[in-house]
Amino acid sequence: ERRRTKNVLILMSDTGGGHRASAEAIRDAFRMVFGDEYQIFVKDVWKEYTGWPLNDMERSYKFMLKHLQLWKVAFHGTSPRWIHSAYLAAFAAYYAKEVEAGLMEYKPDIIISVHPLMQHIPLWVLKWQSLHEKVIFVTVITDLNSCHRTWFHPGVNRCYCPSQEVAKRALLDGLDESQVKVFGLPIRPSFTHAISSKDELRDELGMDKDLPAVLLMGGGEGMGPVKETALALGESLFDEELGKPIGQLIIICGRNKVLASSLEMETWDIPVKVRGFETQMEKWMGACNCIITKAGPGTISEALIKGLPIILNDYIPGQEKGNVPYVVDNRAGVFTRSPTETARIVSEWFTFKRSELQKMSENALRLAQPNAVFDIVKDIHELSRQRGSLANIPYMFTSSFTSLVSSF
Ligand code: UDP
Repeated sequence: ERRRTKNVLILMSDTGGGHRASAEAIRDAFRMVFGDEYQIFVKDVWKEYTGWPLNDMERSYKFMLKHLQLWKVAFHGTSPRWIHSAYLAAFAAYYAKEVEAGLMEYKPDIIISVHPLMQHIPLWVLKWQSLHEKVIFVTVITDLNSCHRTWFHPGVNRCYCPSQEVAKRALLDGLDESQVKVFGLPIRPSFTHAISSKDELRDELGMDKDLPAVLLMGGGEGMGPVKETALALGESLFDEELGKPIGQLIIICGRNKVLASSLEMETWDIPVKVRGFETQMEKWMGACNCIITKAGPGTISEALIKGLPIILNDYIPGQEKGNVPYVVDNRAGVFTRSPTETARIVSEWFTFKRSELQKMSENALRLAQPNAVFDIVKDIHELSRQRGSLANIPYMFTSSFTSLVSSF
């Protein structure tokens, strides 16, 4: 019997860098483990939102109001704060349309959501189209600790939680133990399968061969006190007495172009590289000795895999707060908001506190969960195998989703 290639639709968003990174991690792991058994589509929802014609505003608005109704139904019992948020409702409105179109276009056998706002509406669409018995729907949570309740939906086949803390929240929110699995945050396989040595990477990236290197970043959007910290490091990593640098600095600004151009105008006494959005983060991390970042779950998990001690200098209130004790209590790093304090710590790590740096690096490696992404895709594969070759999912759209909404 010929095996049919199954379609996997990954729902993500390009806000920040974490959702895209997780989506790519899952896609790459599927390819590595199962080859062409699965065809993967990564769908960025918000990005296409910007392409919406402005002359459609009135219709969008009406659509949004209708969806507010839908959200009320779908969200019954959950935080009213969210229902009342016009922003989210607007996104949701657009999103619903996208999902319906996406379902038609990609005919998914499996839908993977890596976004907190992408469970309710797609599940509604599946149910409405009577596809929920046939299409596998899983959520991969990308917050390490304190995450929002919209991540949890009892209608999913699986909810992959990166930590026990998140799993506890899932169970409290009504998910069944059989739905919840804890493997870790999915990180791109390129982080685990790197073969180049530090020396080779430094050579390739045009870095100084000998000086210890600190990587400074702030997630996909280049957030946090990046500039102040860079300037403080420019001073602390220059030894006035010897008249030479004791370290080098790599600054990755992500999509923050203003930050990148303002840093490029500075003059430095130490070797500095200022970069924009990098697609090969594993190389930069592999070439450095420690990292300074806001408490993004993606960056933290990647740094742990690379054995980089972490200085956390900021966090997004709410979902990133819990990441701070995760790093600090496990002695894989420290937290300080002060750029001068950060600069002092790095200069000490690079001189008389090298053993502390080494110890933290070992702790980081111990915390790392490089296999999480493979465990996740294998589990999804198992789910899909259990469904067997029910195969051809009837993607026939008899009535549009918009009319479903109107019926509320
Ligand atoms: N990232 C990247 N290139 C960049 C900056 C960031 O690929 O230039 C990636 C980074 O490796 C990580 C993600 O973006 O995987 C950032 O995720 P995180 O959860 O740390 O923060 P977010 O940006 O989602 O707030």
